[in-house]
Amino acid sequence: MPLNGSASQLPPNFVAQATITARLMRAAVHDTARMVLHTRLGRQVVTVPTLDVDGFTLKSWDELVAEGSVARLRLTSGEVAAALAKTGAAGAAPEVPLGKPDDLYSEVFFGLLTPAAIGGNLLGVRNFEEYRRRIPAGRHVLFFASNGPYDFHGTNHWWKAHDYRFDRIRIVQDGQAIGFVHEDYQALLTGAAEGIQSQKEAGLFTLPTTAMFDPVKPWRLELLVNAAGPNPVTVAFPLEYRLPAAHILMPDEPAVAAWVEAWRDARVNIAILAVLLTALTAIFVFQAQLARSRFAHRLVRNGFLAVVLVWLGWIAGVQLSIVNVINYVQAPFRGFDIGFYLAEPLMVMIAAYTLVSVLLIGRGVFCGWLCPFGALQELLAQASRAFAVPQWNPSAALEKRLWMGKYIAAAAVLALVLSGIDGSGATAEIEPFKTAITSKFTRAWPYVLYAGALLGIGLFSERAYCRFLCPLGGVLAALDRLHLIDLLKRRPECGNPCHLCERSCPVRAIEPSGKIIMAECFQCLDCQVEYYDDKRCPPLVQAARRREEARSGVPVAAM
Ligand code: SF4
Ligand code: SF4
Repeated sequence: MPLNGSASQLPPNFVAQATITARLMRAAVHDTARMVLHTRLGRQVVTVPTLDVDGFTLKSWDELVAEGSVARLRLTSGEVAAALAKTGAAGAAPEVPLGKPDDLYSEVFFGLLTPAAIGGNLLGVRNFEEYRRRIPAGRHVLFFASNGPYDFHGTNHWWKAHDYRFDRIRIVQDGQAIGFVHEDYQALLTGAAEGIQSQKEAGLFTLPTTAMFDPVKPWRLELLVNAAGPNPVTVAFPLEYRLPAAHILMPDEPAVAAWVEAWRDARVNIAILAVLLTALTAIFVFQAQLARSRFAHRLVRNGFLAVVLVWLGWIAGVQLSIVNVINYVQAPFRGFDIGFYLAEPLMVMIAAYTLVSVLLIGRGVFCGWLCPFGALQELLAQASRAFAVPQWNPSAALEKRLWMGKYIAAAAVLALVLSGIDGSGATAEIEPFKTAITSKFTRAWPYVLYAGALLGIGLFSERAYCRFLCPLGGVLAALDRLHLIDLLKRRPECGNPCHLCERSCPVRAIEPSGKIIMAECFQCLDCQVEYYDDKRCPPLVQAARRREEARSGVPVAAM
């Protein structure tokens, strides 16, 4: 969105008003920066938790045990005897005889070898790389080591009679048991001073391709102790293995969408606007009660207009404009991006409220109550009348012609911008909103002069800009033809013989016939105050006089 005017004269927060553009640009910069960072760091970008195969940090055996990369299952003879006794298999003798209760029976170290941060530390980086090159891509490798009389491999895997199966270990993941056969296995030399090769037995198992093994999910080892006898039994001693988070690449936190951030950041303003719109709705629901008091009506109306001008317009920077109409019209034709239209929460709320209210009640709900520039004109007009500034209005015939100005302006702006003839939207500058409201008169002098001239004319002819020139007013007035509810009350005497409301309507929206031209009505309720005023509205005055005559029996002089 181009910013017109002298940047050097603008306050530092001026650009904050260009909210959509600023937020979307920031989101794009953020996304790009993330991509560049990943490329520079050589980090794999993942969308689901993924095993970090290549990351490496030098670690000792004890550190790997401490962090859980190497898990440890330890059994004493006493624990095995107790477990066998529980099975009720009396007389069953384990393959390897038990010792004294406290004697070590089996100590098994195990874990996932595949990540370089584990495999490289256990085997040495060069050996690990060498080994990794030999195993088929995509297959995972587990390491095992053991101490004590009952080792993890036994001898049955050597024999065809046992289908070359390892019968002392299996792993279980998600209810699926995975066993190993001789060809999955590679023994490691032992006898080293430290690490896996310092244990009594050590070896590697390549998981079969048929195993649906997910390395980032937990699994458990079951150490199987087989006991022979009249009733042979196998007792499983389980231990869960959970790969430490350091070896898992996590997807980046999804960046918060610009429009979600905008709504989150604007919580307070959204609440204030919700209160304001609720109050306006209440004004229309209870307009008959409000209009019965001239003082209360003036107080409520001027107070509301002041809040709309100062808070909504000048502080929150929310001014619905023909530019918004253009954006909404263009939306279906340029890859509708809901995020773009939701990026300004207060504008969305005002636009939605305006659309509903124009279709229900008419153009006047927005123009009369929610337009900051309209509020500015009206408050200035009231001040000018208070200072007895002479008021001027065109003749009825000329006025009707001048009303067409806003429709012509709306049609011209929409046609020029939507056709691409005015691609930059410069014709929308016919609206003084950006100058008078969102930038608070901090633009180059021609814009300020233009806005000032329109406000100056409004001092002599109330809301002249709204009535004769505003393209947004033109669009809303055109839509006004569709409105469903007429809230403003009239009497049979309106227009014939009475012209009180006609004269009190500040924007001359009441015809001499007494009919209200809704497309020109700003729902200010001034005519409704007259309607309920039993000291001014002639039918009410006459009714009051008749009641007084009936009560006193004395004729009361007509006022
Ligand atoms: S006519 Fe235009 S300036 Fe006047 S109140 Fe309506 S939108 Fe605002
Ligand atoms: S005085 Fe009545 S007709 Fe005129 S703008 Fe106000 S509400 Fe509409």
